[in-house]
Order: sequence, then structure tokens, then C-alpha cells
Amino acid sequence: MKTAENLSLIYDLHSHTTCSDGSLSPEELITRADVRHIDFLAITDHDTTAALEQAKVYRDKIESKLKLINGIEISTKWHGFEIHIVGLCIDAGETAFQEVMSLQRKNRQIRAQNIALKLEKKGVKKPLERATELAKGPVISRTHYAKVLLEQGFVSNFEQAFKKYLGKGKSCYVSPNWMDIETAVKFIKLAGGIAVLAHPIRYDLSNKWLTKLVDEFAAVGGEGLEVGLTQMSPNQRTHLSRLATERGLYSSQGSDFHAPARWLDLGKNLRLTDACVPIWRHPRWRFS
Ligand code: AMP
Ligand code: MN
Ligand code: MN
Ligand code: MN
Repeated sequence: MKTAENLSLIYDLHSHTTCSDGSLSPEELITRADVRHIDFLAITDHDTTAALEQAKVYRDKIESKLKLINGIEISTKWHGFEIHIVGLCIDAGETAFQEVMSLQRKNRQIRAQNIALKLEKKGVKKPLERATELAKGPVISRTHYAKVLLEQGFVSNFEQAFKKYLGKGKSCYVSPNWMDIETAVKFIKLAGGIAVLAHPIRYDLSNKWLTKLVDEFAAVGGEGLEVGLTQMSPNQRTHLSRLATERGLYSSQGSDFHAPARWLDLGKNLRLTDACVPIWRHPRWRFS
């Protein structure tokens, strides 16, 4: 039940399930969203739409009023940075879109094999086999390798796994063969969707490079920017909101939920500024 102070609708437009590197199954995620009174949820798994149908079937089964937006989060490469593009309101049945995502998953599998070779040299036992077991869907992510490193005592937390082994430039990093931003935007649009630049402040870019990224993203047809993230300073929110509004981009918000944590949850702390035009005002906005 919504309380009197909380009558506005809650939108969380970035979340993960076990179909990529999230810890909750599509069913568990729907249950959590329902318990937390989320009104609109987008499941945006890395490079796969496998969770969407399952989530919808379950939502209907439990007769939840939760509205679902078809989403995906596509990994791209830009000047050596790994930039994530969220696609919202996509038609997951679009064949050409699914073909290009299937190719992306093949490249992901090749990267997973190459990461495993490097981890084996560090003494990690059967990394590919274990990551494959941990991955319950069609995608092996570095998150799964972080779990393997943790299990085998090579690190004491996820952050350390990325800092010591899996992060860019670290000993077990493998440069991925992701598509470029233009291709991701093109195929999201082909599937009728809206392309959103995900978590712009998480790439460790200087202001100059972040501006260049947003400019180029907008120039190739990108239409939205994630302005509302769970953990950000008021200054960061104002800055992102300005980057969006100055270019006529719609603003999105999402928790990037992977697993329950004390500091992060579905719908928690997500806000836009008054200057923002919310992505749910986009003419192609649709949900079910
Ligand atoms: P991948 O898509 O396989 O390149 O893996 C990227 C995923 O790893 C991101 O979506 C995050 O979920 C996770 N990740 C990246 N950096 C970190 C970090 N420093 N600590 C914990 N998880 C991270
Ligand atoms: Mn992830
Ligand atoms: Mn991401
Ligand atoms: Mn994400």
C-alpha cells in the first residue's frame, strides 16, 4: 500500500536477473518489485532479453499491478571504454535485433574463455566450468568470475576481484569485442526502442570526455540519459540533468539492481530534477 506521503509513481528502469548477472530470478525480482510498491519496472539484463517473457507470465500469475517495460543493457566499446547502452520499450520479437544480440553473446562467450585461461594461470580451478554453473542464463559476466574468485579465496569481496583481476588493465582483463555505440543505438531503434546512456558517472571519465560521450551518443540517435541513480551527489544529479536537457535528451532513472544490499534496492532514492523531461513522456514509451 502506498502511504499518504508517497503517492507518486515509482519508476525503476534498470535492473538485472539471473538471466545475466543478477542474483534474483525473474520471478523473485517481480516479487521484490511488488513488495516494494514499484509501479514501473524495466528488466535490463546484459545482452539478453531472456527474462522478459518469464517475468510477465509470473506477474500475471500473481495478479500484480506492476507494469513492465521491455529492456536490455548492451555493452559497447568506445575509445577503449566499456560503455553501457540501455534499450527501453523494445520489441523483443524483432529478428534482426535478436540476431545481433546473439552475435554479441558469442563474443561474450569467447571473452569468457579467454578470461578463464588467464585465471587458470593464477591458480584458479576450473574457472569457466564454475562460471558456467553460476550463470543460470545465456550470459557469462565478470560478476560470475568475481564469485569464483571469492569462492576460491583469491579475494575477500567483489570490489577486490575487479581491482586485482578483472577490471580494465588488470591481470585477467580481456579486451572485449563489443559492438560500437552507433550499432547498439541503431538496433535498439530497429526494435522500436529508446536508447539510453546508462550510469554516465560510473565510467571514470573526465568532464571533457563525458561531454564528448554524450554528444556522440546524441549524434548517432541516442535519446535518453540516466540522470537518476541510487548513489549520487546533488551536484552530479544537477550536472547530468544539464547534460540531458541541453541536448534535448529524455531523462531516465534506475537502481541498476543486481542483488539485495543495504545501500541499494529497487526504486530506492531515484529522482530526476524539475528541469528533466522524464523518459516516460517519450512518444514511443510503452509497457505492459
Ligand atoms: P561484464 O558485462 O561481464 O563486462 O561485467 C560487468 C559487470 O560487472 C557490471 O555490470 C557490474 O555488474 C559488475 N561490476 C563491474 N565493476 C564492478 C566492481 N568494481 N565491483 C563490483 N561489480 C562490478
Ligand atoms: Mn552487471
Ligand atoms: Mn551497466
Ligand atoms: Mn546494469
